[in-house]
Amino acid sequence: MKKNQFEPVNTQVNFPELEERVLKYWKEHKIFEKSIESRSKDKTWTFLDGPPFITGLPHYGSLLSSIPKDVFPRFWTMKGYRVRRVWGWDCHGLPAENKVEEKLKIKRKKDIEEKIGVKTFIDECKLYVKDVSGEWEWYVDHIARWVDFKNAYKTMDKPYMETVMWIFKQMYDKGHIYKGLRVSLYCPHCSTPISNFEVAMDADNYKSISEPTAVYKYKLEPSTFLLAWSTTPWNKVATTALAVNPKLDYVKVKQGDTYYILAKTTTKMLKDEYEIVEELKGKELVGKKFVPHYDYYLIEKEKKAFVVVPGDFVTADEGTGIVTIAAYGEEDLAVMQKENIHIEMHVDEEGMLKSNVPNWGGKYYLDVDPLVIEDLQNRGLIYRVDSYTHTVPTCWRCHTRLIYAPQDAWYVNVQNLKEKLKITNDVVNWFPEHFKYGRYVKSLEHAPDWCISRSRYWGSPVPVWECPNGHRFVPGSIAELEKESGAKINDLHKPDIDKVTVICQQCGKTARRVPEVLDSWIEAGSASFAERHFPFDQAVKLEEFFPPDFIVEYTGQIRAWFYVLHVIATALYDSHAFKNVVVTGVILGTDGRKMSKNYGNYPDPKEMITKYGGDALRLYLMGSPVMHGEDIRISEEQYRMRVRGLMLILWNVYNFFVTYANVDHWEKKPGKSNAVLDRWITSLLQKLTGEVTEALEKYDTVKAIESIHNFVSDISTWYIRRSRDRVGPNGTDKENFYHTSLAVLTTLSKLLAPLAPFIAEEIYRNLTGEESVHLAFWPIADKTLIHEELEKNMVLVRKIVEAAHAKRKEAKIKVRQPLNELRMTNDELRDEELLDLIKQEVNVKRITVVDGKKFSVDLDLTITPQLKQEGDARELVRQVQILRKGKGCRIDEHISLLLPKSYQSFPEDLIAYVKRETLTSNVQWGETIELTGLVR
Ligand SMILES: [Zn+2]
Ligand SMILES: [Zn+2]
Repeated sequence: MKKNQFEPVNTQVNFPELEERVLKYWKEHKIFEKSIESRSKDKTWTFLDGPPFITGLPHYGSLLSSIPKDVFPRFWTMKGYRVRRVWGWDCHGLPAENKVEEKLKIKRKKDIEEKIGVKTFIDECKLYVKDVSGEWEWYVDHIARWVDFKNAYKTMDKPYMETVMWIFKQMYDKGHIYKGLRVSLYCPHCSTPISNFEVAMDADNYKSISEPTAVYKYKLEPSTFLLAWSTTPWNKVATTALAVNPKLDYVKVKQGDTYYILAKTTTKMLKDEYEIVEELKGKELVGKKFVPHYDYYLIEKEKKAFVVVPGDFVTADEGTGIVTIAAYGEEDLAVMQKENIHIEMHVDEEGMLKSNVPNWGGKYYLDVDPLVIEDLQNRGLIYRVDSYTHTVPTCWRCHTRLIYAPQDAWYVNVQNLKEKLKITNDVVNWFPEHFKYGRYVKSLEHAPDWCISRSRYWGSPVPVWECPNGHRFVPGSIAELEKESGAKINDLHKPDIDKVTVICQQCGKTARRVPEVLDSWIEAGSASFAERHFPFDQAVKLEEFFPPDFIVEYTGQIRAWFYVLHVIATALYDSHAFKNVVVTGVILGTDGRKMSKNYGNYPDPKEMITKYGGDALRLYLMGSPVMHGEDIRISEEQYRMRVRGLMLILWNVYNFFVTYANVDHWEKKPGKSNAVLDRWITSLLQKLTGEVTEALEKYDTVKAIESIHNFVSDISTWYIRRSRDRVGPNGTDKENFYHTSLAVLTTLSKLLAPLAPFIAEEIYRNLTGEESVHLAFWPIADKTLIHEELEKNMVLVRKIVEAAHAKRKEAKIKVRQPLNELRMTNDELRDEELLDLIKQEVNVKRITVVDGKKFSVDLDLTITPQLKQEGDARELVRQVQILRKGKGCRIDEHISLLLPKSYQSFPEDLIAYVKRETLTSNVQWGETIELTGLVR
């Protein structure tokens, strides 16, 4: 017997098992490594990976962004580019610190320095992030993501931190970093500032609360009060100014013996009757002194206090058009600085009122609210109290309610960079495009200066040394710091780095490092440079990796990672940070809420991958609207449908080809077919090649998968269906079918390779005998093989067939029953080959075409005795085929058959037809249909 040309295909395919086999093959044969090394170093395509937190577990969100990080590198590799892929781990920041606090049972930040010691704390942090989450590798493998795990970088590595230091220095020297008192979100539990975008990334970081709002009375003269509105009773304790809008109209009203001043349009908030006695502009109030409610603190020399100041931000939309001013608000602080008002900070770093506050020192700031209201009410200084419901930010780590608090901290001057940031964004290709000038630019416009220092421990140090005279030394490298300090630097972490001192070059005094560490977003934003230890690694050239070609993350990163990358790239090089960015939506739970273990609203990802495989997950997610930036609900049903609705159909096509090619002992040779079906499928294939290429070049996986899906459906429901008679022992057109199908399946597996790398590999290797589809080159569409006219006609053919089948169904006549005639009206279809296709599919003797404009299809439904016999013969063939299958006959095996005597009266040619179709060598006559033996 001849050897099979192709490995037989398992009809009972189990995709997860197949994937395990392919994975093993890739590892054993180092296909990933070869896919990089086989491409020239001179032609690179770069992508930037957002490193996950080192001890975290993968979830649907991380899988979602991991998949395009594999799809596009595979695609560009096939296009001939060298694509470096190294894994990274995010190590620093509050997540690790919080875990260590839990472990060491630390309740207050102060305990770290006072009880535990910074050294012990940092050692514990290092220990905590040492255990790389082993889960990642399983997931990464099983979603077929190729990435170098062995050489993964960590943001806590000395080289990485050195680059971060260098970046700080560049930005500092260019004047983009300043130290100053600014209001920032602040977590009293973590005792550190928090970036606004860290909070904004997740809707769960906001909660709705109701709390008192009050209109306070501030005395100008005996019996005359300004009415000022505020939502924060606790900071009335340190209100050193009131603000009015100079342009706004105000009124003085009389109620009883008392006079009140408020904005003219807000008088509806007044209780009881009133009489307007005077109208005035806001500017007339500016400069007036009022009597403070609390004055326990000393006013700094040369500062003003208890005075009305002008503020453009004051409106009459809410409250009274007069607002209280304290240091705990961004606009408040800015106006205080501008107007030289005394700044009193009465809340400590843990949210407690400071000890010099009478009666309430040591109390949590929010607990003071009812006490302040009670006290002022008793003193007759509150006009009215209402309840107010609003949304407040909470800490993304510990969920403590955040406070807007003045911070003497390090900031990136985003305001000065904004115009440039808009310009550098212009050249970035955003997918979907609407984010470019939509959410991204909008969040840019509202961005405050970026607070980049954290009053914490586990992070890159703020690389600034200050002497008592305020002179600064900012080193840009470890070598520079070693030279200046004379110390050997082994570790850039606290507390070691804090022991390093330098002599101030300006005054000769000892300069010490400032205590803060950097926001870990600075590290994330430095990833392009730091993962390559740029500029210290001499082998690395900037233009070879920057700006990277591609990054992808979910919508929450628009104002987070994408933003900080952009700030740093613009500050350093006046450049965009990446060329192409894909923004995915969010995968929600089955109930539309955020996925949460507590809600039990999502299927376990590992279980799903084990059940349906990685290819199906890729096809499901990459084909879903989540890749167009929309949020989706996780759906096991849709995931499963990628197996049944696409992969199995493709598998059956592939199986058909291999099985018959083996049966027919077909030997591979190139050829060109003129058969109409072959010309048609080839035309579709060229079109598909163009479509998938264009879609992937535009980063549109949804379109690419949709095109592939349609093609697989066409090949299965029409091309293969209409080609069944061409192959096998009675095949009429084997050669044309085989070389066309081989070309189609080979190209299709290449087009599928980036999206479903396992199944593509399996099919491609068996068909070609080559080492891997992922080492192959991307196909180029041959436009000369596209036949628009033929494609259009084939659509019509299928429409006619569909109409004819519908008529049969209506008349309850099976397709197996031949009919005499199909009559149709249309102007276009005359091609004999196409009419033959209809004839065969619809099972009619002849087709009559009538000219007309109006499309119609009709069948002659008369079943003559002769047609009836033909139908019965076909039915007999079907039954014998079932028997053959039941006996496990090979496709080319001949059989002996027992047939009922009733068929003896059939014309000889019909019996011959049955024998031919069922590979029957001899027939005996009896009572039943039986397969009596195999003829070998
Ligand atoms: Zn916190
Ligand atoms: Zn100095």
